[in-house]
Amino acid sequence: MKRLNDTTLQLIVIVAIAVAVCILGVLQYHWTSEISTVEQERLKTVLTKSIRNFDRQFAYDFERLGESFEIDPAEPASTIDARISQKYLDWSRTTSRPDLISGVFLWRKDKGRTPYVESLDRTKLQFQSAAWPSDIEELQQDLEKQFELIPPSMTGHEATYYPWKFYGDALALVRPLFQIISQARDSDMGVEPLGFLVVRIDGQSLKRRYLADLIEDNFAPSGFMVAIRSANPPYRAIYLSDPAFPIATSAPDAEIDLFKSVGEEARRRGHPAVEADEQGREWQLVAQHPSGSLEEAVVRWRRRNLAISLALLGILLSCVGLIFSLSRRAERLSKLQMQFVAGISHELCTPLTVINSAIENLADGIVDDPAQVQEYAAILRDQGGRLSRLLDQVLLLASGKVEQTASELRPVEVAAVVTHTITTFEKMLHDEGFTLQTEMAMDVPPIMADPVLLSECIANLISNAMKYGGPNRWIALRIQEVKARASHEVQISVEDQGIGIAPGDLQSIFEPFYRVQAVRDGQVRGVGLGLYLVKRMIESMGGRISVSSALGRGSRFVLHFSVMGLVKDPLTPHLSSPSTTG
Ligand code: ADP
Repeated sequence: MKRLNDTTLQLIVIVAIAVAVCILGVLQYHWTSEISTVEQERLKTVLTKSIRNFDRQFAYDFERLGESFEIDPAEPASTIDARISQKYLDWSRTTSRPDLISGVFLWRKDKGRTPYVESLDRTKLQFQSAAWPSDIEELQQDLEKQFELIPPSMTGHEATYYPWKFYGDALALVRPLFQIISQARDSDMGVEPLGFLVVRIDGQSLKRRYLADLIEDNFAPSGFMVAIRSANPPYRAIYLSDPAFPIATSAPDAEIDLFKSVGEEARRRGHPAVEADEQGREWQLVAQHPSGSLEEAVVRWRRRNLAISLALLGILLSCVGLIFSLSRRAERLSKLQMQFVAGISHELCTPLTVINSAIENLADGIVDDPAQVQEYAAILRDQGGRLSRLLDQVLLLASGKVEQTASELRPVEVAAVVTHTITTFEKMLHDEGFTLQTEMAMDVPPIMADPVLLSECIANLISNAMKYGGPNRWIALRIQEVKARASHEVQISVEDQGIGIAPGDLQSIFEPFYRVQAVRDGQVRGVGLGLYLVKRMIESMGGRISVSSALGRGSRFVLHFSVMGLVKDPLTPHLSSPSTTG
């Protein structure tokens, strides 16, 4: 009753823990969903901040670059060279990236003259006539066209705010230069264009150093991939922070036009804006999460967190189940051990009582007839044998010798071992009225085994067949060679027509100290170690044991030994004619 209560209590605890784990699972699910919404917002904020910082720094740097090269149209045109040189000098002294400019050019179109080009010698700080750089030939052609489009005269104010153009392909900042129209007294009465100032940007320095550093500073902590590309399809990559960036993506996590902020910064500071050379050729910054998108990243994060949490809860639940099953097992084992102690005491006491009374009868001279003495000697031998078999089993269990047999295996002819084992049982079988039927197939191949252990196993099975063989008192012992598609075995079987074993007990009978309840109640001698030891011995020799049984109709125990390896092994050809052992 108490044990039932313990079990019920354990079950209640298990169910309570399982319910708690399920509730925790549901809470964890909701909690993870809430956290993932927060995480999504956090990532968005981080991205927006990174984009804003990048944009602000880029706008600041490019606006300052344009601002540094502004030329006052009211000053005399004759000093334009010197003024640009001075501007360059001032810029290079104050910038942290002097290698960003790769050249400064003057494209001039004086009245009645063909256009000519001057390049700034950045060491001497002087302009010298030069050839137009061949790698930006198209720009020169464009400048000629653009020059025609500039109004022939405008006010000084208009000229002062005339915007810069950024040629993305040529990497050049270009702005017209003006001079006061000769008849006008000051610039507000009129200025006219005299050419272009071209500030070339160094591609390597811009991409590898400037953009790379700016992106690294702003985006590395958030882990977003970033690209700078042309604003309209087909997209042209200017810079990629990761070669895997899908440049053609139409749905990035964030995008921003770069020179828009440059223009705004210039307007704010009262300077000319910077525009793309042509509409649609602006540069834009696009950012995308490496998982494909920000939403995808959060979904994955959520799934991963859920999986980890549920796995942990699952482990927790399995641990509870394991503890429960282990405690049940320990309980069962201790019960079995108690039964074992009781059983072994009984097993020791019964033969000892018989032996003692026989010895007393002999010693007191109660038995003196030679025939009776013979009978007493037989009783003493039987009971002594029973005791020593029991001790053998217990010692074998305690010594662990069973596991050490693998190294002692050798080719064994099964028929010889079986025949030898039968002889040790012959008298007992005859005395107890058993019929032993033997069927031994001819030419059975040898198996790898320890003959002593094998004989022990067969003896155990025969002994059980006698104990549990019922009134029929019939035992069959067979040796067969069984060839199937995937296996080739020698099988040794011991069959009886006795009490049989219920299906529910079939697995348990191989556990130590286990005995079927009916057997225990029926006071049949035994301690529940035989089959356990047989199983261990057989498995230590590489074989296995199986059982089939029907309650009330009998049982059949089969020892299986594979012969595949032996037959095929080229190193042991002598095994075809093995020496027999017993
Ligand atoms: P023991 O015979 O000492 O009880 P075993 O380990 O040899 O221990 O057997 C375990 C149990 O299996 C036995 O108690 C018995 O209930 C059952 N058993 C074994 N062999 C047979 C058999 N041939 N027929 C019916 N029951 C068997």
